[in-house]
Amino acid sequence: MEVLFHDEEGDYIHATILKKDIVKYREILQEGKLFEIKNFMAATNYYVYKITQHEFMIKFNYKTQVKEIHSIGFPLKMFRLKSFISLEDPADVNDKELIDVIGRLIEIYNPMDKIIGGKATRLIDFQIEDNAENTLTCTLWNGHVSSLMPYYNSDSKEPLIVVIQCCRAKVVSGEVRITSSYDATKLWFNEDFEEFLEFKSKLKFENTLMRSLSTDTLHSHSTGISDFKNASVIVTNCYDLKKIQEDGEYYVAAEILGLDCEDGWYYVSCMSPDCNKKLKEDGGSLICTKCHKPYTQGTVRYKVVVIALDKSGDVPLLLWDREVAELVGIPASILYQKYKEVDVEVPPELDAIVGMKMLFKIGFKQALKRGNNYPFNVLRLVKEEQLLKTYSDRFVEHQEQDLMSRMIEEETNTNANSEVRISN
Ligand SMILES: [Zn+2]
Repeated sequence: MEVLFHDEEGDYIHATILKKDIVKYREILQEGKLFEIKNFMAATNYYVYKITQHEFMIKFNYKTQVKEIHSIGFPLKMFRLKSFISLEDPADVNDKELIDVIGRLIEIYNPMDKIIGGKATRLIDFQIEDNAENTLTCTLWNGHVSSLMPYYNSDSKEPLIVVIQCCRAKVVSGEVRITSSYDATKLWFNEDFEEFLEFKSKLKFENTLMRSLSTDTLHSHSTGISDFKNASVIVTNCYDLKKIQEDGEYYVAAEILGLDCEDGWYYVSCMSPDCNKKLKEDGGSLICTKCHKPYTQGTVRYKVVVIALDKSGDVPLLLWDREVAELVGIPASILYQKYKEVDVEVPPELDAIVGMKMLFKIGFKQALKRGNNYPFNVLRLVKEEQLLKTYSDRFVEHQEQDLMSRMIEEETNTNANSEVRISN
């Protein structure tokens, strides 16, 4: 049992109770009450994920005595709230520290089930806003998802204020996010504690409606559909994309016509988490181009150039590991292992992505462009059916043929390399 105490001066300390002693304290210790504690040990605060930055922590033992007391004027601080501003800069974020945040829930995304590291995982994303219109994206994992579900798709007009207690701030693709931390995290909704009342008193009432979005989440594996909901995207075509001068993000609805594996289909990346940068061979060891550290081995990741086609023309696009792995359904490292002894230029499994239709989100930087046929960098793929329907007139129509007519055609057509591509 882990307990967080604060003293009269507002300093916090973490107390830990061994399993065999929990029964002794479970009934006595209650949140928001005041206690006198005698005969405990002070030990170094050795936890990796710290509840406080205090140098020490309290350890209860068989001699410890705990008594509830009443003292007028003793401060009651239920939460240690971090301001959104203090979490703005990724450099200031310590993801090993458990913190509390308060905000008004403004958007909830639909919960998702995923397999992460071979384990079935459930998550839900939502956004909270402070009273200065700063927002934070939050993710709750597994057991915490259900605590938010009553508010998903609820039509309550009352603003929903939430405290996420003992959560962690984490940097995800350059942005600070809040995430639940196993069973340490606790959610509180519209409570009567001082912190809630103060937040409520400063609330602006014009924007109190909460949105539940039945779309994919903002997660890294997201389909990117949230951009479309915000109606702020530029959708262009293959022909126009090649003439774009202005840096920015563009969408193209196109089909993968084929793979262009002149430069191979993978790269060997750094193994340190969140780096993914290329390792360069140098004097027998592999050096990360970002961390500058030497490695003896790296991770094989996809880096595949495809030719995308729409009615306007074709354009080379560069797809990265996350996207290709999602399309192929097999991690690059497994394909690498499978074919490393065999003389195969491109694993046949990769051919599965030829013919796929989707929206490509492209990040364009003029300064990085090298020549006219330089592949455009793809940031995300969107395969949401409704959206593809919206853009269906942009795709090249292939003649739909069944097997029978195809065979007849092959017999009668002297030109075996017919221009007609078979779409199945
Ligand atoms: Zn690295």
